[in-house]
Amino acid sequence: MFCPKHPQEALLAGQLVDDLKAYSCPTCHGSWIRSEDYQVWQQPQADPSFEVNSLTVPINRDISYQPSRYDSRAGLCPSCGFYLVRRRITLKQVTFFIERCPGCKGIWCDDGEWEMLDKLGLSTCVPVLFTDEWQSHARIAEADYRERVATAEKLGPEIAEKLFELAKLLEEHPSGDFGVAYLMRRFEK
Ligand SMILES: [Zn+2]
Ligand SMILES: [Zn+2]
Repeated sequence: MFCPKHPQEALLAGQLVDDLKAYSCPTCHGSWIRSEDYQVWQQPQADPSFEVNSLTVPINRDISYQPSRYDSRAGLCPSCGFYLVRRRITLKQVTFFIERCPGCKGIWCDDGEWEMLDKLGLSTCVPVLFTDEWQSHARIAEADYRERVATAEKLGPEIAEKLFELAKLLEEHPSGDFGVAYLMRRFEK
């Protein structure tokens, strides 16, 4: 098997983390995880009650990450030669792509991406990240996060926090719209 980003480099067998077999490129340090190896590692940790909607984008954590210089390069599956499908992972200030083969479902992580997925709590649900459902969920969560940051910048963190709390209370209350109407009347004056 050869590196998707360096077709002249043979991948070396090793371990990405305990009990997870992977094949890495000696030049770019990217890792190829075969689908069967991923499943063996993932299955014992998979949560049977898992739902995409409960998977939030953990954008509140302060994480900075410089994507690998090979991240933007397209590649072919080391096992079966299909073009790898790229999936964008967007966080606060960073965007990177993880890649997966549409044929054998193997996963390619450029250098540092696996560690990033792990920090974000996403490493045990990589196949989910390739679903449209998760992508749209992540977009909404990201937009919500940006709106909160902008609000906190305008109002200051203390008032912003109260506002978010109130918004949540009203959202959950069956007559919450009365509260919203009250606020709007206050500001019409
Ligand atoms: Zn490489
Ligand atoms: Zn493949």
